[in-house]
Order: sequence, then structure tokens, then C-alpha cells
Amino acid sequence: MAYATTIQRRKTRVVEVGGHGVGGDNPIWVQSMTTTDTFNAAATIEQIHRLEEAGCELVRVTVPKKEDLEAVGYIKSQIKIPLIADIHYDYRMALGCLEAVTPDGKRAIDKVRINPGNIGGEERFKEVIRKAKDKGIPIRIGVNSGSLEKDLLEKYGYPCPEAMVESALRHIETAESLGFDDLIVSVKCSHVPTAVETYTQFSQASDYPTHVGITEAGSREYGSIKSAAGIGAILLKGIGDTIRCSLLGDPVPEIAVCFDILRATGRRVTRPEVVACPTCGRLDIDLERIVGEVEERMKGLTTPLQISILGCLVNGFGEAREADIGIAAGSGKGIIFKKGVPIRHVKESEMVEALWEEVQRFHEDTPAL
Ligand code: SF4
Repeated sequence: MAYATTIQRRKTRVVEVGGHGVGGDNPIWVQSMTTTDTFNAAATIEQIHRLEEAGCELVRVTVPKKEDLEAVGYIKSQIKIPLIADIHYDYRMALGCLEAVTPDGKRAIDKVRINPGNIGGEERFKEVIRKAKDKGIPIRIGVNSGSLEKDLLEKYGYPCPEAMVESALRHIETAESLGFDDLIVSVKCSHVPTAVETYTQFSQASDYPTHVGITEAGSREYGSIKSAAGIGAILLKGIGDTIRCSLLGDPVPEIAVCFDILRATGRRVTRPEVVACPTCGRLDIDLERIVGEVEERMKGLTTPLQISILGCLVNGFGEAREADIGIAAGSGKGIIFKKGVPIRHVKESEMVEALWEEVQRFHEDTPAL
């Protein structure tokens, strides 16, 4: 549906991560992170396969120990999506990941995520950058509010957006001074207003692509809402080149939440959006059943269309006309609209089938993304 409001995406440079261009006009990719012990390759691969099945496009594994490092080559050989190593504290794990290969000698790691603030100083960060340059592997500089450099904390008093942005720019400068600019940046924190302001300030100061997330978002339910508020607000400013929702527990549900955030903000629409009125005392059809059945039928479709289902003719009439396909129902019958034009009168009992027929026609006329 064509609304007048459009969001201008911020132009960022493009960094290649295992065949995925991150930044520029490339899709905003959906990323997740495994929760298994990486050294348990079978469990990690099983989880990555489930993430792939759910639509995950980039996956991160933690590599805290030598056993984990030893597993990444085999893991990479068993999965389809780019593999990212997440490094904290031990810079030698970053160096090892940059060298790691699959059993048939191919590169194991497509990107290393490192927090320069917690690996023991500038010289170690430089060593990682030199190796990344040598191997042609991109680095994500992951600045976190919890691990800012001491001097910045002293200067600003607390981990405010200015301190985090200064930290990120400082690390970028270090990498650039070594002739390396294959960088993606994240400036995450758990406080939504601070995260939004930090990403905003960073994107005004730099054109490196960003990975966006809200750290420690929380339980599946509240974490989804918090991620939607934070990531959504950042995306609506045109910022963000990859996203991740950090939810407690199994990472697979994160993927649907990420795609829903991208769809709700209009940043990347990969399947139909079914909207329905909230219902009220004027409702005179079984709207919940109809919406449930329509949503079930839509599963697997990749057409970016909006379907509107309204429960009465009072407001429904006007609102259904605004969708690609809409139905305004009442008194056991309804009117189907296509792009604002009424095209069919149907009985309540035939509504789902009739709507599905129209969606399929629309689907056939519209190329999949
Ligand atoms: Fe109520 Fe009709 Fe509006 Fe639905 S469309 S909320 S039934 S007034």
C-alpha cells in the first residue's frame, strides 16, 4: 500500500560478510546468536539449522575457549549462512578465529565481533585488526555501555551516548590508522532511549554500517516489546543494516520477531501483513476466527501486501479501502476491496475462501521478494 510517509535509509558503506553485503542498499539482515556450548558442535549445528529454517541470515557463536575455537571449522562446514565469532576478553580467540578453516581448508569465520573495551588494551585490538586485514575478514566493533574505557567514564561520568560514540569512533580511528576499514559497528545498551540516541549520534558521525540491537532485552514477551520499541525507533530513523532481538532462551523465536519489526516499520517486508480491527460492541461477525484462518492461509507467502479485516460496516468500510485487499464485514456478509475498489460481495461463511482467492490473484500478479 502506498502511504505518503517514507523513511530515507541512511547511506552506509557496504561490508561483505560471507557473501552478504551489509550496508548500502542491501536488505537489513536478520541475525541471531546460538545459546549452546560452541564446542558441542552437534548441538550448535542443530540450533543453527533451526535458525536457518526460521529465516535467520547471519549467525553468531561465542568462542570463549580453545575447545570452541577447535569446533568452528566443522560447524561452518555444516551450515549455509555466514558464521560470526563473538569474542570477549581473550583476544587470542579472535586471532584463532581469523585463522580457522573448515575440514576442507575454507575460511571458517566470516566476521569477528569484538569489544575492544574488554580485550586488554589497544595493542591487542591492533593485533586483531592486523590479522583481520591480512585475512580479509571484517570486524564488528561492538561497543557496550557496560565496558566503556575508564577515561571516557571519567570524562562523561556515566555511559551516555556521547561516551559510547566517542569510544566507537576511537576504535574506528585505530583500525583506519592500520589501513583497515572492513568494519561494522554496534553501540548497544539495554536502556531504549539511550540506545536510540546513541545510534542516532553514531550515524551522524560515521557512515560505517551498523548492527542494531537492545542488549539484555528480557523474557520472550517483554524482550520482544522492548526490542520492537528500541530497534523499531532506530530503524524508523533510517539507521541499521543488520538487527538482532536478544531474547531469553531458545534463539529461534527471535527471528520471527525481527522480521515482524522490519515489516511493522516498513523497512523490509517479506510477507503479507494481516491487520484487523480490535473489535467492539458493534462487531457482528466472528472476526477472531476469520482473522486466524486468514493468517494460517498466509503462512509461506512472500508477497508484501496488506490485508485488512474489519468487523463492521461503520468504520470498516473506510478502513478496508486503504489496504491492498480489505474486507468490511457485517450482518453475515461482507464487501471485498482491492486497492480501494469494491470487487465482491460475499457471505460470512465464504469470506475466508473468497479473500484467499483474491490474495492468490494478487500474489500471482506480484513478484515475490
Ligand atoms: Fe468496532 Fe467496527 Fe471498528 Fe471493528 S471496525 S472496532 S467492529 S467499529
